[in-house]
Amino acid sequence: MNYLFASKRYRLPLRAPLRTAHGLWREREGLLVRLTDETGRVGLGEIAPLEWFGTERLAEAETLCRGWGDRLTEAQMAAIPARFGCLRFALAAAKPAAEAKAPADQRLPVAALLPAGRAALEALPARLEAGFLAFKWKVGVGRVEDELAILDDLLGALPAYTRLRLDANGAWERRAAERWLAYCAERPLEFIEQPVAPAEVDLLLGLAEDYPVKLALDESVTGLAAAREWQARGWRGVFVIKPALAGPLAELEAWIRESKADVVFSSAIETALGRAAILRWILSARLTQRALGFGIGEIFGSRVWDGPPVGPLLDAGWCDAVDPEELWNALN
Ligand code: MG
Repeated sequence: MNYLFASKRYRLPLRAPLRTAHGLWREREGLLVRLTDETGRVGLGEIAPLEWFGTERLAEAETLCRGWGDRLTEAQMAAIPARFGCLRFALAAAKPAAEAKAPADQRLPVAALLPAGRAALEALPARLEAGFLAFKWKVGVGRVEDELAILDDLLGALPAYTRLRLDANGAWERRAAERWLAYCAERPLEFIEQPVAPAEVDLLLGLAEDYPVKLALDESVTGLAAAREWQARGWRGVFVIKPALAGPLAELEAWIRESKADVVFSSAIETALGRAAILRWILSARLTQRALGFGIGEIFGSRVWDGPPVGPLLDAGWCDAVDPEELWNALN
């Protein structure tokens, strides 16, 4: 199959800057790609790299796109190096035949993000009221003893039907991690995400072995290659996967099915175009029951780029409310 190919660059200010391991992040840049097949059918995809997270750089992906001109063949697509996870995700999703239809009866809970520190307790009632069933709290920001006290207040305020996961974003040193994991051993947490830095491979494996709390890898797994390495090391915990970074969805699905990996899907701060493709696939592939890491609220402050508000449950209706052409047409 040969395609007509086009791409457009986007640059969108974030409604509120995000704190990352590499400082404040103020705007999201990426590319939308468009494929038209020989019968005239059109599909759109999104390239949304997170360079500081270890993906390809946007400029590299753009150079490949420019090199193709306005034609693209299957052979050229197949020749893209595996490390271009974002570009490969986008092109596979843009193939006009690719779009999965999300089943109308499928719904998945969305994890609501709670702010760091005591502010989590103030944010909680409104989110419970809104119907959220799963929560994620950022830790490793304040002092260990302060956060442990807040944790107990949070657990005390959460009804039994809800679940709480923690995310340390790799912030803990060994001592802090051990203190936390010992403290949480008998507390009802869903899991703790990235307790220590990705470079601490042996420590991560040791902590998973020594404590009963389930651990999840996020910063440690930029793409599928890293996830496979962790499996080869014997990792039995959760993998947080950002599908927008991980290559074609079909490849990701094949890996999860064959390895039976325990996964959580999460946003890479892509626009509604990429997110709709991912959520449609998640709803139809049924690879996890874990709450989705897409409770990120309004990122761009724009209905076109954010899509409809994300509530406590996501279903096909959210995906169907996003019109990829509208995003494409919003760019010059
Ligand atoms: Mg995380």
